[in-house]
Amino acid sequence: MAFEDLKQTLAQYLDEDALLSIEKAYELAKKAHGTQTRFSGEPYITHPVAVAQILADMRMDPESIMAALMHDVIEDTEVTKEDLSKQFGPHVADLVDGVTKLAQISFESRVVAQAENFRKMLLAMVKDIRVIIIKLADRLHNMRTIGALPPAKRHRIAHETLEIYAPIANRIGMHAVYIELEDLCFAALNPLRYALLKKAVVKARGHRKQMVTHIQEAIKECLLRATFTDFKVIGRQKHIYSIYKKMRQKHLSFNDIMDVYAFRIIVATEDDCYRCLGLVHHLYKPVPGRFKDYIAIPKNNSYQSLHTTLFGPHGVPIEVQIRTKQMNKIAQSGIAAHWRYKSPGSQFDKVQMRTRAWLMNLLEIQQETGSSLEFIENVKIDLFPDAVYVFTPKGKIIELPAKSTPVDFAYAVHTDVGNHCIASRVNRHLVPLSTPLSNGQTIEIITDAKTHPNPTWLNFVVSGKARSSIRSYIKDQKQDEMVAFGERLIEAALGQLSISLEELPAESLENFLATLELSSMNEVYESIGRGERNSLLVARQLAQTLDEKYKTSASITSQVLSIKGTEGVLIKFAKCCWPIPGDPIVGILLPDEGMMVHYEACKKIASARKKDNLIRVEWETNSQHEYEARLDVELENRRGVLAELSVAIASTDADIDRIHSDNIDGRFACITFIVGVHDRTHLAHIIRNLRKVNKVLKITRVH
Ligand code: MN
Repeated sequence: MAFEDLKQTLAQYLDEDALLSIEKAYELAKKAHGTQTRFSGEPYITHPVAVAQILADMRMDPESIMAALMHDVIEDTEVTKEDLSKQFGPHVADLVDGVTKLAQISFESRVVAQAENFRKMLLAMVKDIRVIIIKLADRLHNMRTIGALPPAKRHRIAHETLEIYAPIANRIGMHAVYIELEDLCFAALNPLRYALLKKAVVKARGHRKQMVTHIQEAIKECLLRATFTDFKVIGRQKHIYSIYKKMRQKHLSFNDIMDVYAFRIIVATEDDCYRCLGLVHHLYKPVPGRFKDYIAIPKNNSYQSLHTTLFGPHGVPIEVQIRTKQMNKIAQSGIAAHWRYKSPGSQFDKVQMRTRAWLMNLLEIQQETGSSLEFIENVKIDLFPDAVYVFTPKGKIIELPAKSTPVDFAYAVHTDVGNHCIASRVNRHLVPLSTPLSNGQTIEIITDAKTHPNPTWLNFVVSGKARSSIRSYIKDQKQDEMVAFGERLIEAALGQLSISLEELPAESLENFLATLELSSMNEVYESIGRGERNSLLVARQLAQTLDEKYKTSASITSQVLSIKGTEGVLIKFAKCCWPIPGDPIVGILLPDEGMMVHYEACKKIASARKKDNLIRVEWETNSQHEYEARLDVELENRRGVLAELSVAIASTDADIDRIHSDNIDGRFACITFIVGVHDRTHLAHIIRNLRKVNKVLKITRVH
């Protein structure tokens, strides 16, 4: 029986007391799941027992084993978190709660539910990393038994596992789980290809056996001669999915990949690693440029090893990894090794610290991102395994996702450094902020307190941290503008009712806020600026809270919103009717974007006009801003005419923003100019100048 097997494994490393508690947890889970079955028809309890077995094989602690046995009871049975807390203590209850999904009801779609659940798990993981270890074991068993599920569900789960859980397993160094998950996903998503590749691999291994033994013996002999006693030389096999990935990403053939012979040498001490490296470099010539020292600079998941590639017998490439036993344990089980080999101050503690640092980084990203979908996107980027290692001017190593830029670096140092960076030096040379960084460079960031993040940075930053910080800055920025804009809209709307915002008594504002259940006028302004509330309606509501005596018509001068042209992103000018100062104009609110200003007679806004959705606006007198206007010029084609037209426009000090020309039939052409002008007088000046150009037939301003 499965639980008996589990007990046997546990007895190898846990004491009587622990075993008793675990048995209690098992009894509770068994009773709670009762007659529930899995898709395969087996009793449900077989699943939590199998998950606990996976963790027991990793030598995880008793609390994790108990939580694994009960991991589905909150979600699928009547048992509550409080019940668990009372019987098994708060830690076990928190662990189970951490892997429990949120109630399904409240989500608009499965993707959102997935993202929200992931966010919840992550927060639990920050408190206790064992949550993700249990979740991974759960996922591993589900993937091992995925064949029982209907195809659509199989596909969805395999996909999610490949995108999120396998990379997380890799990120926290649980290598064995990682490769098993990847192969199981590959087999579930692409069964034919998986079967073919697997067959080919088995066949190739048969052919290679002789060569493998030959190289293995040569290395052993060489180490023995150098008086090594405590070591192992292992022939290494790539997992199926990694072969598939290599074939696809590097466009290699199956034979190209299988022609590489891979070995792992495990020795006693770090010194031995370097000594061993020298020996194998002496045995076979190393391939230049392929040596990597992950002992001095561990990978982000704490992986340590020396990597080198050699020219073997007959020139066959040999890949060698050299590491100590301890490094090997971490390479296999990563953070999970921490519970198995508790020894303060050891490498295992460092694994723990690095994992914490990663979680803290995720937490920061999550605090800066609004939606859980955006968050999960950022996490996926950060899980991308390739990294570059660069240095601060003081020599501190900073690890970034591959293709990171100085902006990513700046945000990795500190959010404030990122927000205010204006330039960067790489190895003492000034480079653009968008330059991709390479390993080993020293990066210096030049900041200026007065500058702000530039939205165009989003086009080149790669780290989740930089991306989420820049987005959050832009969002805050836009929010301030929305508030200011909403305030102007409400002022104008009140003006139409002969009320001034400044003169409204505080008491009536408070009453008004209470009826809306909002806490500040800024929230009201923001919702108006965003187009969620109509300024006229709000103004009328406000007016109703007033006594007659406050309506002082005399103090109101302007009843409409005036446009300066410098409002920024919130006021846009329509590209159908190209309004400029002097034109009669109206505004239309676009939800969440601000206001679009149209020429009053523009046909595009006919439907809004019917519904009375337009806002009265007017131009601010003497605005110095430039506005785009469109002129269509019909003329007889001749050489040099475009240059003459351009000169005619430029002589009025106007900018030509765009030109587009249509040959009508070879003899005639229509040229469209988008010109930057101050107002109608300026435009009239341009039209007069254009008329003077020879062979111009017709000039139309397009509304
Ligand atoms: Mn489960």
